[in-house]
Amino acid sequence: MPTAAPLSPSRLWLPKRLLATKSALTWDHGRAMADRAGALGVDVVELPTDRLNLAVSDDPRRAYAEAKRTLALVVAPPSKRRLQPIAPSADWRVDLAEGCPAHCSYCYLAGSLKGPPITRVYANLPEIVEELPKHLGLGKVTSRSRTRAHEGTTFEASCYTDPLGIEHLTGSLAALIGFMGAWNADAQLRFTSKFDAVEPLLALPHGGRTRMRASVNPPRFARFEGGTSPVARRLAALRRMAQAGYPVGLTIAPIIAAEGWEDAYGQLIVDAGSALNDVPGLDLTVELITHRFTPGSKAVLDSWYPGSALEMDPAARTEKRTKFGGVKHVYDADMMRTLRRFLEAEIVKALSTARILYWT
Ligand code: SF4
Repeated sequence: MPTAAPLSPSRLWLPKRLLATKSALTWDHGRAMADRAGALGVDVVELPTDRLNLAVSDDPRRAYAEAKRTLALVVAPPSKRRLQPIAPSADWRVDLAEGCPAHCSYCYLAGSLKGPPITRVYANLPEIVEELPKHLGLGKVTSRSRTRAHEGTTFEASCYTDPLGIEHLTGSLAALIGFMGAWNADAQLRFTSKFDAVEPLLALPHGGRTRMRASVNPPRFARFEGGTSPVARRLAALRRMAQAGYPVGLTIAPIIAAEGWEDAYGQLIVDAGSALNDVPGLDLTVELITHRFTPGSKAVLDSWYPGSALEMDPAARTEKRTKFGGVKHVYDADMMRTLRRFLEAEIVKALSTARILYWT
């Protein structure tokens, strides 16, 4: 395996300020997060109430930059703690936070989160975790799948955030992994990440009940993924997780059919094979997600990243209806078939033990 040389430490994101609501600081986990941030040199502002009172600049660029440098420590209300099905990834979505400090030109959060893109982390972790046992055996997504039911009831933690990208500030992911490890149940936690700081997770008693996936794209598309860890480091991190006995996976997303995509994705898959194939007992899955956008997400992303070279031209795409009646713009059927055939063939060649979970 090529990663024998020691890696330099991961670059960790630090917000400029952490705004802690009054209620959040009544939770031990909330207080611990504020202490962690303070120890890392973050300006911790203890608010007298639960109102965040964000003073947002009128200049959209400045408002975006300020929001992205702000971490809010809040209590997740019941509506945010209610687990929702999340096809095709998992039976249930569990949120430890909302928002992400990175700057991806295609960020899927642009279409799902409202308001300035601050990252909110949840202090009431015990209340979030106590929802999980109530949903054991009730899943209708992976639990109903002929090929995935053996995963048990699945819980996805990266729908509204990248939990590893903020883990050095929260400790929430480690706590949830530890909970799953101790919970002797037919269940699995899942998370995907574009970050690489996995050291605090390696020695956890995970019990094989958490699957980490690295969210990857060819390095040539790194310009669309500002503030994330380099792809080679994400693959090296995934290798370390696999060596620590975690089931692992690749989320190849979003698949971008820009010029040169065949060479780029072919090499990415070969690189993933070099990073992973020799890990004893490797349990590897692959998820394949093509690039898409909605009118709403495009409007937000155009305002966040004006001038981005990422193609988001509705005229170059096919319209598809979402299950809620909205529109999304996807590649046309020919391109979808070509992409799928190519990627699946490359995966069979270079990642012979991998199970492809879905294509979308
Ligand atoms: Fe969005 Fe994921 Fe990029 Fe964060 S890492 S900005 S959640 S796409």
